[in-house]
Amino acid sequence: MRRRISIFGATGSIGQSTLDLVRRRPDDFHVVALTGARNIAQLIQDAKAVQAEVAVTSDASRLAELRDGLAGTGIAAAAGDAALIEAAARPADWVMSAIVGVAGLAPGLEALRHGTTLALANKESLVTAGPLLMQTAREHGATILPVDSEHSAVFQALIGEDIRAVERIIITASGGAFRDRPLSDLDHVSVAEASQHPNWNMGQRITIDSATMFNKAMELIETKEFFEVGPDRIETIVHPESLIHALVGFNDGALMAHVGPPDMRHAIGFALNWPERRALPVERLDLAKIGQLNFRAPDPARYPALGLASRVMHEGGLTGAVFNAAKEQALDLFIAGQCRFTDMARMVDRTVDVMLTRHRLQNATITLDNVRDVDAEARARTCEDRANTKG
Ligand code: NAD
Ligand code: MG
Repeated sequence: MRRRISIFGATGSIGQSTLDLVRRRPDDFHVVALTGARNIAQLIQDAKAVQAEVAVTSDASRLAELRDGLAGTGIAAAAGDAALIEAAARPADWVMSAIVGVAGLAPGLEALRHGTTLALANKESLVTAGPLLMQTAREHGATILPVDSEHSAVFQALIGEDIRAVERIIITASGGAFRDRPLSDLDHVSVAEASQHPNWNMGQRITIDSATMFNKAMELIETKEFFEVGPDRIETIVHPESLIHALVGFNDGALMAHVGPPDMRHAIGFALNWPERRALPVERLDLAKIGQLNFRAPDPARYPALGLASRVMHEGGLTGAVFNAAKEQALDLFIAGQCRFTDMARMVDRTVDVMLTRHRLQNATITLDNVRDVDAEARARTCEDRANTKG
């Protein structure tokens, strides 16, 4: 029996790596839905290559183009947010959630409501609505498999273990583009410099988020939500080689580390093959050649995003949705040349402050609508903050 799979965000970096693995085993998978946004040519090409049932673009204005490209193939074309939800409701055994941003939340929730196994790359789902996601999975007997390299590493280190024996979870961080730059330089670094990752080849936004460690901050929050452990048991360590992706510390003093090459096809492939392990086309590490692995404590002055993550985890509720929206808005402003690199964390901090005083974020019920409301308000406040403090 071929497994029925869908890929949300198929045209992106994670989506393309997922398709790479799927296309290597055409007899094992039947592709139900592929989705994308603006790269219609890629979506058409991939939908044809894997003979998907339906291809969906989130951009309603591009439907005609998609339909034309798929004419005569028997592959259905659809567009818009409602079409994404419909695609998520199509029966599937396994769904990849790799849309970027908070737009990934609604399709992921819909897939969970149908009891599907959800491979979760979309970080924003757990950060903005972790308890809602976990509860929905429980109610519908659905499984969530983490697809970030760090969370896949923790998940693998926990196989066969009792979560009550876990003392701490250590998430590693490369330190990003500026880990060795003098702190005094950071006020003046450029967008181009911030877009160079020392180890991973990823999109621009996540690469800049690695330089600020907003990406790591998101991952710490995800760890708390997914593994349901207290924030004080979650740590970060700078590990410049990016070969250990995470470690789990147990009550007998043992640390279980997950070591592997920096290639997202490992985490994606693990989720695709779960609960089995199968061969994957990733590099095998030559430890003698690597020689040494280094670690250092993260400097809170260099990475204020980590302190913010701790605050978000302790406050809980809708604070994660505010944090995510504010940091996305701050990143937009940085990329547009409207704020400095170091302003991003200050702006996010102030938005979280203001929103915490104005709303009872901690105790708020987490629904899709509530997440969207605080997301919009947090973005507006972050822009306003920039406008007020400029000059
Ligand atoms: P990407 O920008 O390369 O791809 C994003 C995908 O989402 C594309 O298919 C795009 O068409 C689609 N999309 C964009 N906006 C949309 C919208 N409004 N509605 C519907 N679809 C939309 O991103 P990526 O690097 O593949 O990352 C995807 C997710 O996985 C993110 O949440 C990211 O944080 C997470 N992640 C990425 C990596 C990585 O190595 N790239 C690692 C871990 C986690
Ligand atoms: Mg990661």
